[in-house]
Amino acid sequence: MLQRITEHDIDRTRVSEKAVDVIDKLRRAGFDAYLVGGCVRDLLLGKVPKDFDVATAATPEDVRKVFPRVRLVGRRFRIVHVRVGREIIEVSTFRRAVTDGDDHMPHLSDDGMIIRDNLYGTIDQDAFRRDFTVNALYYDPSTDVVLDYCEGMKDIAARTLRLIGEPETRFQEDPVRILRAIRFAAKLDLELHPDTEAAIAPMCEMLNAIPPARLFDEFTKLFLTGHGERAFELLSEHDLVEILFPLPPHGEATAKLALASTDQRLKENKPVTPGFLIAAFLWQEYLDRLELTATAAPRREDDPASTVIAAQQSTIAIPRRHGWFVRDVWHLQPLLARRTARDVARALAHRRFRAAYDFLMIRCATGDAPQELGDWWTNAQTENTEALLRELPSGRPRRRRRRRGRNRPNRSSADLNAANGGPRLPREVAQP
Ligand code: ATP
Ligand code: MG
Repeated sequence: MLQRITEHDIDRTRVSEKAVDVIDKLRRAGFDAYLVGGCVRDLLLGKVPKDFDVATAATPEDVRKVFPRVRLVGRRFRIVHVRVGREIIEVSTFRRAVTDGDDHMPHLSDDGMIIRDNLYGTIDQDAFRRDFTVNALYYDPSTDVVLDYCEGMKDIAARTLRLIGEPETRFQEDPVRILRAIRFAAKLDLELHPDTEAAIAPMCEMLNAIPPARLFDEFTKLFLTGHGERAFELLSEHDLVEILFPLPPHGEATAKLALASTDQRLKENKPVTPGFLIAAFLWQEYLDRLELTATAAPRREDDPASTVIAAQQSTIAIPRRHGWFVRDVWHLQPLLARRTARDVARALAHRRFRAAYDFLMIRCATGDAPQELGDWWTNAQTENTEALLRELPSGRPRRRRRRRGRNRPNRSSADLNAANGGPRLPREVAQP
């Protein structure tokens, strides 16, 4: 079953010398060790790996004895981070699948999900407990040999992503593998094997059982690593969008434009943030909620932004600071629409102005805000601000407005209505 491959496309100069050092040291201490997983897969596909993982026969305690600078991480899955210079190499001990043997019951939940995953094993057991065949290849940098236990090389050549073992069982053990399948297909431009693909629909409901914090991690990997738009398309093809975003399914255009912009920024090495994407994904729901709140008697605690973000939290945990980012981007939209000297000055001085402006541009592209407004803001940033502000109406609020503005969250619904050219909330008076 094991194939030792000596002819392959790995460019040895792309292999981290630090990782090779770690492997050498483990070997000298008497422990077998290889590069494994994503880095081997990426090297074989001609890509530059983003990090290097090592699999070894040494236990975490053994590894700690070999290296002075280590950190033990992970509870569900214990691994060791070895620091070499500025690089961190992840070292994990060969494990076997919890279902490999007959004492596995305490490691599985009632619905068949893996809850503990720390049974050490041999290298071939380690290969079979991995998710996809292309992720189960081992590379020995000293001999330049690839070890293939699961026919991963065949799938690399055919550019196929195939689960190891029985697909439904493998998705059941860990439903996050469904999202990993989508992510690898998008990122590496691989085709899902038909059997793997066929198991998605029957198992995808199980994603509901995944803790929201883990789904947030997976969310950032899906959408903030340069292939977000493609990942979204694939999720959508497999009816998975509504599992991640259980709010009513609309606003796809806004989401896709935000993802395209994020992918582009990553290409240009510009910073990106989950908040921007979350603002886009939930925007339509926020607008709907504003409309509802505007017709009911407004109460402070009904801030529609908070309601929408809170509803999403039960599926994907949104860390607090990103929640604030989303609120800021949303709340700035009406301010951008008003164009009085006072509001323009406030908007320009806001720390989230740039994100709010980028978001406005996306709304212009979907027809949700007038293009003229977007163009105005594009020009405003190239002009002399002092002169610009002098030309605008002052926008000093009448007393009645100010009181509303201070206390009532639904103030923004009225303003937002102006931003939209009025169709959503016809009762409101246009600004200014
Ligand atoms: P990336 O380029 O995103 O880092 P990766 O394949 O290295 O891709 P990791 O999440 O870093 O992904 O995992 C490293 C390896 O561990 C994988 O290649 C796979 O072999 C194994 N692995 C990770 N997550 C799972 C899982 N949920 N089920 C089974 N094996 C997994
Ligand atoms: Mg990795």
